[in-house]
Amino acid sequence: MKIGVLADIHSNLPALNVVLQDLAAEQVDGYLVLGDLVGYGPYPNECIEILQKLPNADIIVGNHDWAAIELEDISLFNEEARQAILWTRSVLSKEMIEYLGSLEYLLNKNQYMMVHGSPRDPLDEYLVNIERFEKNIPALKADICFVGHSHLPLYFFKQKENGTAAMRAVNDQEILNLALGTIHVINPGSVGQPRDHDARASYGIFDSQALTFVQKRKAYDIAMVQIRMREQQLPPSLIDRLAEGI
Ligand code: ZN
Repeated sequence: MKIGVLADIHSNLPALNVVLQDLAAEQVDGYLVLGDLVGYGPYPNECIEILQKLPNADIIVGNHDWAAIELEDISLFNEEARQAILWTRSVLSKEMIEYLGSLEYLLNKNQYMMVHGSPRDPLDEYLVNIERFEKNIPALKADICFVGHSHLPLYFFKQKENGTAAMRAVNDQEILNLALGTIHVINPGSVGQPRDHDARASYGIFDSQALTFVQKRKAYDIAMVQIRMREQQLPPSLIDRLAEGI
């Protein structure tokens, strides 16, 4: 099975559309969505509606989704993120609130697990360094794990027999070989708000038979999203960062 791997869409409809068009052209058989469907961006209902209709999709929630439906305290969010959550709450339909509330924040599949933050702290921990990767290894339920949350395309790996833990950034078109006997934790980067100084939407394709992950980047109409964000009076820093990829 070829599976499209998406994280941190953040209500960015033009980015989501470009990614899904490419994944359709790649003839994927299914989808993994690693949470933060909403928050920051200006199209929350529209993005959820499209994601709900994806065939063979496993979808989990992230911290922004929970905040949007008032299950996560936003007092620890920064000011701009909090403003965007309050705006999201004001526009989310009842049906979409119920849908987000029905989703899990961690899924264990046989071959892999999926979680928004980290295996030991599913909603809130940022998996961004080797120390945190090693501390999460006991909480892994499979040798392959997909995470989101940091908005950075990252690959963590460690051979199970006497291996040394390592991590690195993953570039567009790079192919990871997910060999047996090694632990692999992969963040596909963010569809809707990349933070690795590359403004293009970030995602990937997992081949569950070949045991490969292909990293992908696609440009989308950032200006269109920014115009809509200005119309909705979302915070200027959130508007600017899309073009900078930070
Ligand atoms: Zn996020």
